[in-house]
Amino acid sequence: MRSAEMKPSKRRHSGIRWRLFAGLTSFTLLTLVLVWVFLIRLLGFFYEKERFVELRQISAELAGHLNDPNLAAEVERIALDKGICIRVFCVEGGKAVQVADADVTLDCIIHHVSPEQFARFHEDARAGGGTYERRMEFDTSAGDEEGGFHVPGFDAHLGNVHAVHARVLNVDGKEFFFALDCELTPVRAIVNTLEVQFFWIAGSMLAVTVLLSFIFSRLITKPLATITEQARGLAEGNYETDFTGRGYREVQDLADALNFAAREIRSTDRLQKELIANISHDLRTPLTMIRGYSEMMRDIPGENSPENVQAIIDETTRLSELVNDLMDLSKLQAGTHKPEPTVFDLTEMVRDTMQRYDQLIRHEGYRITFSAVGSAFVRADRTMILQVIYNLINNAVNYTGENRHVLVTETLHDGVVRLSVADSGEGIPPDKIEQIWDRYYRVDAVHKRAVMGTGLGLSIVKGVLEAHGANYGVDSAVGVGSVFWFELPLLDVNEQDGQDL
Ligand code: ADP
Repeated sequence: MRSAEMKPSKRRHSGIRWRLFAGLTSFTLLTLVLVWVFLIRLLGFFYEKERFVELRQISAELAGHLNDPNLAAEVERIALDKGICIRVFCVEGGKAVQVADADVTLDCIIHHVSPEQFARFHEDARAGGGTYERRMEFDTSAGDEEGGFHVPGFDAHLGNVHAVHARVLNVDGKEFFFALDCELTPVRAIVNTLEVQFFWIAGSMLAVTVLLSFIFSRLITKPLATITEQARGLAEGNYETDFTGRGYREVQDLADALNFAAREIRSTDRLQKELIANISHDLRTPLTMIRGYSEMMRDIPGENSPENVQAIIDETTRLSELVNDLMDLSKLQAGTHKPEPTVFDLTEMVRDTMQRYDQLIRHEGYRITFSAVGSAFVRADRTMILQVIYNLINNAVNYTGENRHVLVTETLHDGVVRLSVADSGEGIPPDKIEQIWDRYYRVDAVHKRAVMGTGLGLSIVKGVLEAHGANYGVDSAVGVGSVFWFELPLLDVNEQDGQDL
């Protein structure tokens, strides 16, 4: 059973090492991208949003103090407390008069724009329903002294970026206009620092990922490589291979499965060797007899008797039975011998079969009794079921004890007919009961036969009954005897009508 040289399959999948590396690296890259986007790229966006919310809250607080006599002091306090610049105007008769002013940060927009530009905040706030908000940046190229500024695109300039909140509201018939300004710039420096840090962290994480995937893949693939090596040994005919699955549970399971397969291969190999030895033996015995008889008839005058010719005929019959059994068995096992079901009466079939044992009963003192239940119609392959019955009765005759009694019983229950063949022989030891259905398996090698068997009987029985989907089995007790049985679905009377019986 030497296999051909083990070749790798044509469709090669990528190895665990590569997959692990690809998986871990993708995961790390994804994590890094998410961190970069949410923690770094969008940090400025979230920070600025928060700053505008804060300006709105301050604006609401300030609105409550507009009529306070100590408004200027209040404005100063809020500006210092929050770190922002504030300018408050009162508009009377079309003229805006500054009533409070707090300039606490350098380069704030509201203190550096020209009066015209500042007036535009006022107009825009009015036009916008009372409030005007804008993110602004000094245009450094335009020069500070001109007070130029522009609204930047993202990252357009490295100048100071500010959030400006302007509001117009009437308090007790007076119109107030105030503007708040807070610096947004520091977040840029943080983002820049974070970006540098991020690249270092990303680099180290990728390096660690590569290292880890290498270590893990080695840990995972090493036991697999060992098992593959052992499996190669098995394929090359070393059936004693013992698979070791150290490392982790899955490998242990694989090793267990392979050990099981190796045990099965060992036993199949042993059975196959035994099969060849048995077939050769069983073929040689009748052939030797035929040759012996023929030579005797050729060489010894007067030996050419009808009895000797009969002996040759008997041996050739036995030979063809053996060959037929082998053919049946291999066809059954290959699945090419399919049952061709017809409807027949099992009781009648068993009764007819009994006649075959007349000789044994009359001359050798065997007692074969049949306890039937009347008709039992079944749909099955007639020839195959007949073969099963013969094999079971032959075995019972072969293995029955001194009392030479075989009891064939037919019973009906739950819509099935059960046929049992019981003997009072030595029985079969429980640990052998599984194997007796294997080809050429014999509990003990000693043949003491009344009816010659081919040694394939029970495997044919098993093949036929399994092809019929029938239940079958054996109940046996050592020293008491064995009962082999099988069951077939019973056809009811209506079903039999219309069948060709
Ligand atoms: P054979 O009977 O030709 O050896 P079988 O396949 O019919 O081959 O049976 C396989 C083995 O099962 C037998 O060798 C025998 O050991 C055991 N066996 C079968 N039938 C019986 C029985 N009725 N009583 C005891 N052992 C049996």
